Amino acid sequence: MANERKAVIVGAGLVGALWAVILAKRGYQVDVYERRADFRQAGYVGGRSINLALSERGWKAVEIAGIREKIEAVAIPMPGRMMHGTDGALTYQPYGEEGQAIYSVSRGGLNIELVNIADEFSQVRFHFNQACLGVDLDNSSVRFEDTRTGVQYAIESDLIFGTDGAFSPVRQSLQKLPRFNYSQQYIDYGYKELCIPPNEDETHRMHTNGLHIWPRGQFMLIALPNVDGSFTCTLFLPFEGEASFENLKSEVQVMAFFEKYFPDVIPLMPTLVQDFAENPTSALVTVRCNPWHYHHKILLLGDAAHAIVPFFGQGMNCGFEDCTILDSLMDKYEENWPAIMEEFSANRPEDSNAIADLALLNFIEMRDKVADPKFLLWKKSKSTCTSGSRRSFNRCIQW
Ligand SMILES: Cc1cc2nc3c(=O)[nH]c(=O)nc-3n(C[C@H](O)[C@H](O)[C@H](O)COP(=O)(O)OP(=O)(O)OC[C@H]3O[C@@H](n4cnc5c(N)ncnc54)[C@H](O)[C@@H]3O)c2cc1C
Repeated sequence: MANERKAVIVGAGLVGALWAVILAKRGYQVDVYERRADFRQAGYVGGRSINLALSERGWKAVEIAGIREKIEAVAIPMPGRMMHGTDGALTYQPYGEEGQAIYSVSRGGLNIELVNIADEFSQVRFHFNQACLGVDLDNSSVRFEDTRTGVQYAIESDLIFGTDGAFSPVRQSLQKLPRFNYSQQYIDYGYKELCIPPNEDETHRMHTNGLHIWPRGQFMLIALPNVDGSFTCTLFLPFEGEASFENLKSEVQVMAFFEKYFPDVIPLMPTLVQDFAENPTSALVTVRCNPWHYHHKILLLGDAAHAIVPFFGQGMNCGFEDCTILDSLMDKYEENWPAIMEEFSANRPEDSNAIADLALLNFIEMRDKVADPKFLLWKKSKSTCTSGSRRSFNRCIQW
């Protein structure tokens, strides 16, 4: 009986893999289709940040999946921000009360762990190298192409989840429908990842348990710790203008820029110039859409439904929260999918739009205000986040 319930998930990223675990725990037969080769063998090429901040919003879903301990073992607690002034001065700002933190996790490590855990269920099947081409809405089927052979085919299902990321082909099919609302907004900033390697004894070169920020008014550098002793750094900078990526083309320009704005980082980044030249400069997009479901058979989750800019550190966490909410709606409506999708799609987009707005606003706080002593004093005196309950902490925690 239990195995008669079937679902197709498009995309084995962070949200798709976690959602497969949750459905499998409930006895669903789950087929997960992923465009990439099996990254457990082929190596993880995410094309996005190497590490991420996991907050309470996300931990709840990890707990429902029953894998908190496994993830905690590879997560580094970051109980506060460590701000770096241009003079090298450090200021520490706790995010919450003692014992509260956000956690730095490896994107690839987390994704692989989630796929491995899902794969332990006999009724979960992963189909790698299968690129979704779109959805045939009339007969509720998903079109795929095997990227190795070029063979195209369709899979019919009464339950299809689009967890195929910000440029979701599942969502693109829904976009052709009348009364489907959709917007995509790029900001004028891009980002580039850089690296602070570990010391020779594999310890971190800066304070381990903190999210490091170099706020510089119109731009910023951040660094999150990795378990191997390194830090993954991300430079957020306008594409054009005086201090911008377009003006950082040569080695001389890059070094002069870092000497002016981030002098304390230079000795920590022995491959700075090489990394700057080789690593891509990527764009940042906000995607909003509504409704998230079609005919109670197709549902969008994660970035496919709500991609946000990373400055609130909440994109994955929100995708995980989608899973938490759906799991509770499955209890509430005894797995009656029309009722679940109606309620989810009626309420959830408003919340995700609010987080998308907060993410855009938090960029201003991070790049600019955290360097302002008056702001830090105000933040310290504010009780909601710093001395509130665990619940308020859950709501407020951010990069
Ligand atoms: C620089 C940066 C830093 C970030 N930091 C944080 C952070 O600290 N905390 C946080 O919570 N979030 C963060 N995010 C956001 C986070 O990366 C995303 O919200 C999260 O990855 C969304 O997960 P997802 O599974 O919905 O989509 P994705 O991770 O994009 O996964 C989508 C999956 O679908 C697959 N796919 C795509 N197209 C197809 C197709 N045609 N057919 C089949 N499969 C397909 C992809 O290969 C991928 O496996 C950050 C983002 C960026 C860019």
